Amino acid sequence: MRELLYRIAEGYVPTLSEIENILSLNEEDAEILFKIADDIKKLYFGNSIHIRGIIEFSNYCRANCKYCGLRCSNDKLIRYRMSKEEIINCAKEAIDAGYKTLVLQSGEDLYYTKEILGDIIKSIKEYADISITLSIGERKFEDYKYLKEVGADRFLMKHETADELLYNNLHPHSTFNNRMSCLKNLKQLGYQLGSGFIIGLPGQTLRTIAKDIMLLKELDVDMAGIGPFIPHKGTPLGSEKPGSAFLTVKVIALSRILLKRVHLPATTALGVLDKKYRDKAFFAGANVIMQKIEPYNYRKLYEIYPKTLEDKKSIKQERQELEIYLKGLNLEISNDKGDALIL
Ligand code: SAM
Ligand code: SF4
Repeated sequence: MRELLYRIAEGYVPTLSEIENILSLNEEDAEILFKIADDIKKLYFGNSIHIRGIIEFSNYCRANCKYCGLRCSNDKLIRYRMSKEEIINCAKEAIDAGYKTLVLQSGEDLYYTKEILGDIIKSIKEYADISITLSIGERKFEDYKYLKEVGADRFLMKHETADELLYNNLHPHSTFNNRMSCLKNLKQLGYQLGSGFIIGLPGQTLRTIAKDIMLLKELDVDMAGIGPFIPHKGTPLGSEKPGSAFLTVKVIALSRILLKRVHLPATTALGVLDKKYRDKAFFAGANVIMQKIEPYNYRKLYEIYPKTLEDKKSIKQERQELEIYLKGLNLEISNDKGDALIL
């Protein structure tokens, strides 16, 4: 196994069966996987972690993903939309607190036209030279094009699962083909592209995950969010089992060894499921963390999956505490925007 992992580190592309074997490693044997991933991460990114601020600005969604608490059929959820001014003020406060990348995320909410989003992006960019990532789901090519032209730098939209049948079953409002064409459009438009997938979706196998990892390679992504499934009672998958935190860390580690330059977060979902494994991910290939920065009254309503809320603090105080926490793990905090690493 050690030899296979070193070969992958040197450029060998593993078969799907080999990937399945790697992902089956037990806790003790997985240490070598984590060690090699950590070495590669340090080679490309040093010991520093990028902190991205995420503004979850609307929980309205026209889509109906079977795993997500924001799905349009969940009529128990109180919906909110942040105004343009609220979003811009939140962004400015975050920039003043030291954020160099902001992620604007929402359900698929067409209330925010390309012009409204464009105004928000332009105002933030006028205020400071930071990077803006959009995570707003599937839109028309023209919308993506306009938003790129007015200053959006990156786009995050997970492929969720590489199994086309499973994808189409979990997303009754759309298709795998449509997802792929959106991702390809974004790449073609010059966005720094983020994809990713969920670990532990009902119906997923290790073979599916092997295909998920290879799809990241094929899409030539610049970043990838890999997080465990967490069941939400207001969804059709509410009584299913959560994904495995240990398997998630193994997938992050193997993705690092295979993809090398790609930004990989220790995902929020992993932290919600198991903080110990979230921290472990920083020593198994992950080099990014996302911190929510929208006002508290909205955070509890952005309920993709159940989670506990931290105490109310200012954006600056939360950032400082996160920095202290990461430094306590002997990690450094990156001072740059953390753009895609192009080799
Ligand atoms: N609506 C946009 C989209 O789907 O790309 C962005 C927001 S969406 C809430 C962000 C991510 O949440 C999705 O890509 C999905 O992977 C993740 N997610 C949703 N429900 C989840 C769940 N129950 N467990 C784990 N991740 C989930
Ligand atoms: Fe909407 Fe995104 Fe949730 Fe799907 S994952 S229901 S698109 S917010």
